[in-house]
Amino acid sequence: SERTLVLVKPDGVARGLVGEVLVRIERRGLKLAALELKNVTEDLASQHYAEHNGKPFYQSLLDFITSGPVVAIVVEGPRAVSAFRQIAGGTDPVEKAAPGSVRGDFALEVQENIVHGSDSTESAAREISLWFPDLP
Ligand code: ATP
Repeated sequence: SERTLVLVKPDGVARGLVGEVLVRIERRGLKLAALELKNVTEDLASQHYAEHNGKPFYQSLLDFITSGPVVAIVVEGPRAVSAFRQIAGGTDPVEKAAPGSVRGDFALEVQENIVHGSDSTESAAREISLWFPDLP
């Protein structure tokens, strides 16, 4: 079994899509290991998105992710990292995300794309310790 970090980003929370995301996670058979509504500090945001530091969209991404509360979730199950990436759909909701995925069903923009999911088990471990430092 594997763990992944899922975020319902500020656009998803503001649009009332937390339930939609949770339904898809649970319906697939994945389990919730932790869940919290969090205000994101500049410090947490820059650590979470460290790999994008220097890219043209970096500052805009930090402004976006700190613009309102997010729901952070640790999701657990067999191949949880890939399974949630499939639930989310590709980064670009129009060009890459399939209909039936969260992004394919609910998003139109690359930045405001509703959810985040860790891209590897290594990223998941790093991100889970960042968002849930007290989780065993
Ligand atoms: P996430 O890491 O959020 O699951 P991802 O792995 O699909 O998304 P990344 O390439 O890691 O995508 O980019 C992280 C996030 O940065 C994206 O989800 C999106 O919100 C934003 N982003 C990525 N590329 C762009 C871009 N070209 N313009 C604006 N925002 C972008």
